[in-house]
Amino acid sequence: MRLVLALTAALLLVRPAAAAEELPIFDAHIHYSHDAWDMLPPDEAIAVLRKAGLRKALVSSSSDDGTQKLYDAAPDLIVPELRPYRTRGELSTWLRDPTVIQHLESRLARYKYVGIGEFHVFGADADLPVMRRVVELAKQYGLVLHLHGDAEAIDRVFAQDPAARILWAHSGFDRPDKLRPMLSKYANLWADLAVRSEHGSGGKVDPEWRRLFMDFPDRFMVGTDTYTPERWYYVAEHAAWSRAWLNDLPRDLAEKLAYRNAEALLLGERAPSR
Ligand SMILES: [Zn+2]
Repeated sequence: MRLVLALTAALLLVRPAAAAEELPIFDAHIHYSHDAWDMLPPDEAIAVLRKAGLRKALVSSSSDDGTQKLYDAAPDLIVPELRPYRTRGELSTWLRDPTVIQHLESRLARYKYVGIGEFHVFGADADLPVMRRVVELAKQYGLVLHLHGDAEAIDRVFAQDPAARILWAHSGFDRPDKLRPMLSKYANLWADLAVRSEHGSGGKVDPEWRRLFMDFPDRFMVGTDTYTPERWYYVAEHAAWSRAWLNDLPRDLAEKLAYRNAEALLLGERAPSR
């Protein structure tokens, strides 16, 4: 171990910039939905992720077949998550569609996942029967809930299952002063930074976000969100942009946000295997 540390230190002295660039990234917000399959076949999609220097990618897709295609192509890289949507348009209808439950149950019986999501739910809709069943399934299978929604939806899900583990997509698009009380209230709440930029523009971390990252060093993770096929061209750029602002943080904290928090949450005891 000491030798490894000494070698690492030597490398850092010789090539500080290169070592900093090599910060591994676990991208916790990738979709490979049906409209991306023709433009970017699985092997090419995997090549995009590898070229970005990703260590892992949390992938969910409309439909889930997209996730399975990528997982088959690169099980070492892809961390599968079950999205309830069979096609892109179900984002606004899924909560009132009981057939979603049969779909989820059949996929859960057939494949391995680390989470259910990303799904969209706001306010009182989190108490609808379909959402309640999703919370039960997550509990039954030991899965993270990747939730795109507001603080009220988070409150309602934790009221249903206080032991749930929630990954809050886009950190709820909330400001640090709104995130702080939620992270204080719920030890099992994590947040991805996908489609956010105000925390780290120009390679500098915003002071308010820095305090939040310092106070909750184990809760945040980075992600691109390939919500349209064109966003795939942005994955490498996003990884490079993330490394730039992460390097403005102490190395230990930067590594947590870059990949360690995602690994701890998603690849802990419940790593996918089949
Ligand atoms: Zn998304």
